Amino acid sequence: MHFDPVLVRRRLGRLLPERLRPAVHPHTHALTVERYDVDGEPIPVADGLAAGYQPTEVGAAWGSPWATTWFKLTAEVPADWSGQELEILVDLGSEGGPGFAAEGLGYRPDGTPIKGLHPYNQWLPVDPGSTNIEVYVEAASNPQITMRVPTLLGDVETAPDEPIYRLGRADLAVVDAEVRELVADFDVLGQLAEELPADDVRGAQLWATISDALDAIDLHDISGTATKAREILAVALAKPANASAHRLTAVGHAHIDSAWLWPLRETVRKVARTASNVVQLMDDHPEMIFAMSQAQQLAWIEEHRPEVFARVKEKIEAGQFVPVGGMWVESDTNMPGSEAMARQFIHGKRYFQEKFGIDTQEVWLPDSFGYSAALPQLIKLSGSRWFLTQKISWNKTNLFPHHTFWWEGIDGSRIFTHFPPVDTYNSDLSAGDLARSARQFADKARANHALAPFGYGDGGGGPTREMLARAVRTADLEGSSRVAIEKPEAFFQKAHDDYPDAPVWWGELYLEIHRGTYTSHAKIKQGNRRSEHLLREAELWATTAAVQHGAEYPYDALDRLWKVVLLNQFHDILPGSSIAWVNREARATYQQVGEELEQLITTSLGALGSGEGQSTVNAAPHGRNGVPALGASATGEAAPATVTLRQAQGTADGSEFLLDNGIVTATIGADGLITSVVDHETGRNAIAPNGVGNLLQLHPDVPNDWDAWDVDSFYRNTVVDLRGAESVTVAEDVPAGVRVVRKHGDSTFTQLISLAPSARALEITTDVDWQERETFLKAGFELDLRAEASSSETQFGHVKRPTHENTSWDAAKFEICAHRFLHVAEPGYGVALVNDSTYGHDVTRTVREDGGTSTTVRLSLLRAPRWPDPETDLGQHRLRYAIVPGAEIADAVREGYAINLPERTVAGAGIEPLITVDNPSVVVESIKLAEDRSGDVVVRLYAADGGRATAGVHAAFDATAVTTVDLLERPLIDADALSSNTPADLSLSFRPFQILTLRYTR
Ligand SMILES: [Zn+2]
Repeated sequence: MHFDPVLVRRRLGRLLPERLRPAVHPHTHALTVERYDVDGEPIPVADGLAAGYQPTEVGAAWGSPWATTWFKLTAEVPADWSGQELEILVDLGSEGGPGFAAEGLGYRPDGTPIKGLHPYNQWLPVDPGSTNIEVYVEAASNPQITMRVPTLLGDVETAPDEPIYRLGRADLAVVDAEVRELVADFDVLGQLAEELPADDVRGAQLWATISDALDAIDLHDISGTATKAREILAVALAKPANASAHRLTAVGHAHIDSAWLWPLRETVRKVARTASNVVQLMDDHPEMIFAMSQAQQLAWIEEHRPEVFARVKEKIEAGQFVPVGGMWVESDTNMPGSEAMARQFIHGKRYFQEKFGIDTQEVWLPDSFGYSAALPQLIKLSGSRWFLTQKISWNKTNLFPHHTFWWEGIDGSRIFTHFPPVDTYNSDLSAGDLARSARQFADKARANHALAPFGYGDGGGGPTREMLARAVRTADLEGSSRVAIEKPEAFFQKAHDDYPDAPVWWGELYLEIHRGTYTSHAKIKQGNRRSEHLLREAELWATTAAVQHGAEYPYDALDRLWKVVLLNQFHDILPGSSIAWVNREARATYQQVGEELEQLITTSLGALGSGEGQSTVNAAPHGRNGVPALGASATGEAAPATVTLRQAQGTADGSEFLLDNGIVTATIGADGLITSVVDHETGRNAIAPNGVGNLLQLHPDVPNDWDAWDVDSFYRNTVVDLRGAESVTVAEDVPAGVRVVRKHGDSTFTQLISLAPSARALEITTDVDWQERETFLKAGFELDLRAEASSSETQFGHVKRPTHENTSWDAAKFEICAHRFLHVAEPGYGVALVNDSTYGHDVTRTVREDGGTSTTVRLSLLRAPRWPDPETDLGQHRLRYAIVPGAEIADAVREGYAINLPERTVAGAGIEPLITVDNPSVVVESIKLAEDRSGDVVVRLYAADGGRATAGVHAAFDATAVTTVDLLERPLIDADALSSNTPADLSLSFRPFQILTLRYTR
């Protein structure tokens, strides 16, 4: 007889789902179902258990969006089932992938959690010997937020009330363990046969074996014939892997977005459900390893579900449950400021250390939207050794060339990095995933280890017993990659030993997608930037007050406020890619954080003020207007700033405005556009001939896939320039300023262009009533210079990116992220744009007819995507930015700090700075008291310009000793460089972009 593998494949394709899988549960018994619908937000477990339940039934509708329903499931175990393995099967009646469906957590009558429920994970265990069943399920009716469809479902305040789910199943069932194993055998071998090439010997033999095994099954007595079929399959399962087979470390994982298409409070529950599943699975499968990142998520379990936390802790001690990541959350890494990025590691690693005694070694960021070039140094200084990401495989243009490599940051720090070739952080360990990992592994010529995170994320419950069954069978299986369940640290050690001279990738890991996240939801961007700078001020003045006046240091408040700000840097909150509910809460949170920090600052400054009169407070790391950095004094004398109106040169009718402060002269045309900005030192106009500055431009902005995330390059093809002005008038409320009002549609733009006395920067304050939708608002400056690259501030330094489009890698960077400044220069002359809350920018250049080159820098001010939040960005905004003509990088750094740290006024003669640095290129990023509450003073500095630097650092307090420490304030092993110095007067040398943290003992 001819052998036809297609016939076998189709036969298995039918019998496995239709006959074999159902035979795992040969007998079922309907459970009695009662329900309690919670009015409003989730209630404590004890209240849920004690609630007044009403009868209901399978098929009944339940759950309006974001509501909670408690189900009580009861039954008497049928007498003839005694001694058999039983389980409960619950289908909450939803469809959709992990994180996009109804979810539940099962509890025993005493309130201890059993495990989570999800469409992909529908069972609860039954204790052996049970005669009566009584379990409770706290079910969450989280709505599905359909991609690209603007919806009111994204906020409990706007979602409709109708139930969205139907209870699909609630049964008690007998388990046939042998049939379950048979199903797993067929699952693995069938998938493997599918995956192998049609002409492969092993593949052909597998189809024959599967055919024989199917013949051995009596479909009327699957239970009675399963063993015979398994014996046939066992021969194929016993054949060992090829000697050169790809080696995969499988790490159980659940990527749980801390907020996204659900609010923060739901993540608290998602994490508890997933952790409950995981510890339950570990009881049954001691080989199971699960890596959990984001200290915040463990802290939530600790706070809200102590009984789950106790179980997790037990499994951490057993070495099965492995904290990874070393960060407070899996944050965005493009936008968090210098100190905040450091604090992600400080708070994350401290939590893992204090709660579990674990010093995490691997930074785990599978999903963030690009990775800043400052990270390698920060990772190293946090005491970690490895880095894992996956997201770069989402690049739309260029294929990243390595999966295992050394990643080198702006300062030269290198971190051994792995980027799983399986191309997902939610693998199910299917044969397809295992084969893809081997096929795509770019470094396989010289390395043979890759990592595969497996498990359903976002509330899907993490790894399943089906996935573990695959891992067991593929440990050593001919035709498959070899799978070993191991800890990430074991993987990294092996991968490193296997490939110590891996290739090097220099600079940022720019993600060629999701470029709109630098701009979406301006209020969140602003909240983050302000909070970061208020935290700096609060710590600086609280430390100064503690050291100089013995004032109490607000440790608890600062710790709490930092953690709130760090949480909101999560990679769907700060990027503005969450539902309306998350955004609404984030705005309110930033408001609250701002108020509390202002209060702390006021208290500290109050403690510091002494003597007569008033002084100006300067929290910036550079002196300004005669006021020292990090201190307060009377303001120095400034030349007056003036505004005059004059006839525009070369025009008959136009008038123009001249702003001048003796340092900078700027000209603003009758249309309100800036035509020249000249610094007196160079005498050169920053604005290109016939070009303008501060041109507002509108682009249609509907990307192809991810509305809040993406801006696609075709947005540039269509543009509306806002050149018409409603009015252009002298601003009477500032020494030298012009106010310009423009309208477009229902939106109004009121801009104050002003030059302060002594200022080097021409500042533009933009008040927008933004009523556009799906529109990108840019402010452009056409500059008269030929820059090959732009320099954008990132954490503790800046990153250079090309202004040209020579290669596809260059062209893909058509929208870029900068913190407080973006600088462009040709030798001898540069210009900086600084801002108080903008991150997105683009830089282009053209060669003019006169032969000169114009470099156009644009700030991305606002977008208004409609998915997942239909109202994103609508309403009032105030955005500040400034142009600094004739600026070197050092000027850009200084002005960037200055615009984000406005001066304050305090009673008294002044404040002596705690720390003085004699080189402006060495910048104080943070002054605080030590995390261990010893009272030691911690000062973090860095070489900001990109060159090496030496600096004298003077401490104006009694310091008995000083050491260089890592981010966690532990002495660095090579710290003896300071031994020849006296603590109060140090002479320090810095490598380019080097960060140094000093710890002073008082
Ligand atoms: Zn994510």
